[in-house]
Amino acid sequence: MKRRDFCKASVIVGTAAALPAKELLAVAYGSIAEIVSDVPAITVSGTETVLEKAALTEFAESLRGVVLVPGHNGYDAARRVWNGMIDKRPAVIARCTGSADISRAVNFARERQLLVAVRGGGHSIPGKSTCDGGLVIDLSPINGVRVDPVARAARVGPGTLGGGMDREAQYYGLATTLGTVSHTGVAGLTLGGGFGWLSRRFGLACDNLISVDIVTADGTLRRVSAEENPDLFWALHGGGGNFGVVSSFEYRLHPVGPQVLAGRLVFPLSEARRIIEFYGEFAATAPRELNVDLGLETPPGGTLGAVIYVCYTGDPAIGEKLMAPLRKLGKPIEDTIGMTEYVKVQTQFDGLPRLPLSVYFKSGFITGFPAGLVDALADGFKPDAAFSSYFMHSGGAVADKSETDTAFAHRDTLANMMMIGVWPNHENTPENIATVRANWDMVKEHTSGFYVNLNEADDRTTHGNYGANYQRLVAIKKQYDPGNLFRLNANIEPAS
Ligand SMILES: Cc1cc2nc3c(=O)[nH]c(=O)nc-3n(C[C@H](O)[C@H](O)[C@H](O)COP(=O)(O)OP(=O)(O)OC[C@H]3O[C@@H](n4cnc5c(N)ncnc54)[C@H](O)[C@@H]3O)c2cc1C
Repeated sequence: MKRRDFCKASVIVGTAAALPAKELLAVAYGSIAEIVSDVPAITVSGTETVLEKAALTEFAESLRGVVLVPGHNGYDAARRVWNGMIDKRPAVIARCTGSADISRAVNFARERQLLVAVRGGGHSIPGKSTCDGGLVIDLSPINGVRVDPVARAARVGPGTLGGGMDREAQYYGLATTLGTVSHTGVAGLTLGGGFGWLSRRFGLACDNLISVDIVTADGTLRRVSAEENPDLFWALHGGGGNFGVVSSFEYRLHPVGPQVLAGRLVFPLSEARRIIEFYGEFAATAPRELNVDLGLETPPGGTLGAVIYVCYTGDPAIGEKLMAPLRKLGKPIEDTIGMTEYVKVQTQFDGLPRLPLSVYFKSGFITGFPAGLVDALADGFKPDAAFSSYFMHSGGAVADKSETDTAFAHRDTLANMMMIGVWPNHENTPENIATVRANWDMVKEHTSGFYVNLNEADDRTTHGNYGANYQRLVAIKKQYDPGNLFRLNANIEPAS
């Protein structure tokens, strides 16, 4: 290190040691009092408003975390979300550090009828966790995980990514259902349902909730569990971000791994029909310890083909026997199935480049592979580097609950079918979206309902998607968010 650089580093370290956290953040981001003037903003009804410098300064000073407005250092980094196609400019980003900050942010927004977006891991594919001109309640600083290995439970902050929680839980040989990409946030994933390699064995991520702390639209912090506020607890099992801002999740954990039987078989696309038909049968009869996904895609670091992914978390000797039909499927281009660390299974798709990708999804639940669907997939759909299809296995413990036991209604399905477009820049975006929609048009008649965490949803489709649960959700929404402050989600409008 050159002397000049050493000195610079020493000054920063010295400053860090001398300043309390809030001042340190001001050094990094800039002081709100120095930088801001009035900031133009947008209300929930879409009208223009102005956030006055004095009000913003007071708000910033009332938080332990940092408030960022356009012009601040860090504003551009903080406004970014996972889907590179989404490029929004919030009026204010409140980087909250706990329930008190969240409550103040909710009050600030409600009192001004400011448009609000809530951000956990920032992975909403349609970009619901940011907005133009509104307030983003950014929970990413609240990312602590505390595992109680005796109670087999974990207390998890809403800014935690799946990988962070897996890491802490696996330290004790424990895990719960989380998504299959470790940089996805636990918050949005859990509140909308939460599928993963463990969902057939232990239920959806939301099924493993013991309790949550939530700040509702009136700014009140509430503890919610099967015993306290049970209606709200029911609604948070699939009702998404409609009811408030969760400041803490408590999950049930289960012994898993650390080694599990997992991997993938890749077959040439020319054999797609045979593989799809096999998958339909195999997935329908699999035991709950076995999760099998299908991709018509290019797997990470692999070759375009028909890909069967497995993860078996039971007794490995039984697992090997269950693999026998797969081994008889013919000669794959690739076979990686073997004993693997669970955390590696959970990070196998992480290589997906992160930014600035553009991503567009359509998805829906299927109960099987009728001939028309197999024909559409095998003959009509042409996967390539940009366009793929993926089937996430459901059933098992997911189906142990009835349609009305939780807000998440789609219990009795075989898989979640996705049509995906991923392209590396923002060029040709309208054409690529049109291609995903055309691919979807070939298969959508075979679906029934969709997963709120993946699709763009409008109010009309959201209504039908919650089935028999919708009216109960509307009543709960009216009780906890009568003004529909939390509307950037698969929105449930409060009853009129
Ligand atoms: C790469 C990738 C892989 C994925 N894999 C899976 C998978 O394997 N299984 C699966 O089930 N889904 C998967 N998904 C979908 C995923 O469930 C959603 O994108 C989910 O919204 C991500 O959560 P997040 O906290 O990162 O989202 P964010 O974008 O931060 O939030 C999404 C929405 O959730 C709500 N929300 C977030 N935090 C809170 C909170 N604390 N309180 C109240 N509401 C909140 C808000 O309405 C917000 O708009 C994947 C998505 C991506 C991009």
